[in-house]
Amino acid sequence: MNQPAAQINLRFHFHNGLEDLLPAAQRSGQVQMVCAPHQSIKHLVEALGIPHTEVGQMCLNGQPAADLFLAAAGLALKDGDRLDVYPYGRAPLPAGGARFVLDNHLGRLAIYLRMLGCDSLYRNDYQDEELAQVASSEGRILLTRDRRLLMRKSVLYGYCVRHKDPPRQLAEVVLRYDLPCQASPFQRCLRCNHPLRPVPKAEVLERLEPLTRQYFDEFHLCPACNQVYWKGSHYEHMLGMIQELIKKGKPEQDER
Ligand SMILES: [Zn+2]
Repeated sequence: MNQPAAQINLRFHFHNGLEDLLPAAQRSGQVQMVCAPHQSIKHLVEALGIPHTEVGQMCLNGQPAADLFLAAAGLALKDGDRLDVYPYGRAPLPAGGARFVLDNHLGRLAIYLRMLGCDSLYRNDYQDEELAQVASSEGRILLTRDRRLLMRKSVLYGYCVRHKDPPRQLAEVVLRYDLPCQASPFQRCLRCNHPLRPVPKAEVLERLEPLTRQYFDEFHLCPACNQVYWKGSHYEHMLGMIQELIKKGKPEQDER
């Protein structure tokens, strides 16, 4: 009589950049794994260093299996099964759209995203628990380089930022979430993320330098931190910089 195998062999094939997250010895993307038949695939994939938030699609023995990843508990995998694992082409957005919360090491990226007009929370003293909680309760995408943080079940939307260089980080996030590649200045405060409001010149006149008073008439104010913004030379500079950052940061061969 055939008894179910106590352990089965699985063959994982990771594609399109997911292999970069594997341990060094497995960067080819092909991993053999021995496990119990009903082991959760989330657990197996994360044991290899790949957070569940990175997995877009899976195939089981060549057949697309859209819900395979989440329905893994109770799924009867067989000895010798092959699982192909792909990242998102364009990652899904939470119901509220492209709104982010960033970990303590991504301050520069937060400013760049605010330049694009994206609602991007950042503090340099967030604890891990708090980051996961904010992402979950506010339906925000958690951006971090800490994969352990993304492996928390409560984090539904997240992205493991690969590069250390902020311009390249911006390009990664723009590509992954298909964000508009244009600066949208005067929507968000670059300092504190609060939405800006137009303000009459007279209201901020006393705070302006003589040349700014003379040459500019349109102003915006952050109601939270009181920072004043206007279309000075920094405005053109910022528009150009965003385009340059994205262009510079885009991978030469973008397969996604
Ligand atoms: Zn502000």
